[in-house]
Amino acid sequence: MTSQEIKSLTNQYVMNSYGRFDVAIDHGKGAKLYSPEGKEYIDFTSGIGVSDLGYGNEPWAEAIFDQAKKLGHTSNLFYTEPSARLAEKLCKRTGMSNVFFANGGGEANEGMIKLARKYSFDKYGLGRSTIIPLKNSFHGRTMAALTATGQDKFHNYFFPFVEGFKFAEANNLDSLMEVAGDDTCAVMVELVQGEGGVLPLDKDYVHSVAKLCEEKDWLLLVDEVQTGIGRTGSLFAFQQYGVLPDVCSFAKGIAGGLPMSGILANEKCKDVMTPGTHGTTFGGNPMCGAAGLVVQEILSDEFLTTVQEKGAYLRSQIEALDLPCFGKTRGLGLMIGIEMAEGYQNKEIADKLVEAGLLVLTAGPGMRLLPPLVITNEEMDAGVAIMKKTLS
Ligand code: PLP
Repeated sequence: MTSQEIKSLTNQYVMNSYGRFDVAIDHGKGAKLYSPEGKEYIDFTSGIGVSDLGYGNEPWAEAIFDQAKKLGHTSNLFYTEPSARLAEKLCKRTGMSNVFFANGGGEANEGMIKLARKYSFDKYGLGRSTIIPLKNSFHGRTMAALTATGQDKFHNYFFPFVEGFKFAEANNLDSLMEVAGDDTCAVMVELVQGEGGVLPLDKDYVHSVAKLCEEKDWLLLVDEVQTGIGRTGSLFAFQQYGVLPDVCSFAKGIAGGLPMSGILANEKCKDVMTPGTHGTTFGGNPMCGAAGLVVQEILSDEFLTTVQEKGAYLRSQIEALDLPCFGKTRGLGLMIGIEMAEGYQNKEIADKLVEAGLLVLTAGPGMRLLPPLVITNEEMDAGVAIMKKTLS
């Protein structure tokens, strides 16, 4: 099909809930994507932080193919090897104790919220179920995750929301103490607010929150759906922050492009969920597990140091352009935000870059770059050259 045919069919038969770019993608290689007509795009998006191995990765594709021929799906009523091995890898690399597998980021956060409430119920009984997320956060589109999302623009139309959430200002301990009370059971944070504009939390603040959680027996819930699986230059961002969450959610990059997510629980929380309390039909699907094992193999600790180097390189190259529309860059590893200069709109700039062959994202009022973690310096240079040509 041509790009035009794909767009027409999509617009006729798929619900119109996305603000799509005017681009159809057919295939990719490395960090490059191609339209059906062969137009090339440098990809600084990774399908919103998912395709960490880029496109056309042979070991990844073969592992999925081999697993599909052997066993595609069987449900969690039975034991299977790939997700068991993946869970072991994640625990051993993080110091967490066990895993619950799900399918998407919002669903993972639902599980994290449920776990926090059950932990508190088991220990303290009813009435201690309030979760404190941060303002400007994004935790997903399912009802509890949407409730926990601290940005009103996502809430329109969908009232009433789930009870038991109170919001605190990011990087402000006083604000947290103001909303906390006898009803608090957990604090929920993104270490780098992604959709909110790529805003890393202050390390001191995160340490203070972790200490407070320990003292009060509130669970520290860390949403690593976007920051996790190597994106920030460590397997999870909490490893760079030097805190161990009670529960942490992950999704996006975990299986390199197949839909998989989950939560990791620490020693204190590993036995909270008991048979019948939580579940999902597809969670830990063997094909996703097999794909996730390849991702873990490629994202070794040595590889992850290159993610930090690449992030620093890309930011320095962009800042060196000194473009009139861009302000400062920020972020961790290959999770990069760019401030917009006064008078420029992020969506207009993104549209221009995409038209010129560079795929980029917006976040909050700025730009967001999430390139595949395997991107080469040449591919980054090609993307930066498109910025220069299009925006100078
Ligand atoms: N949490 C964070 C931090 C995210 O960035 C996202 C998606 O961007 C989500 C949750 C929701 O994930 P999903 O779209 O897979 O449900």
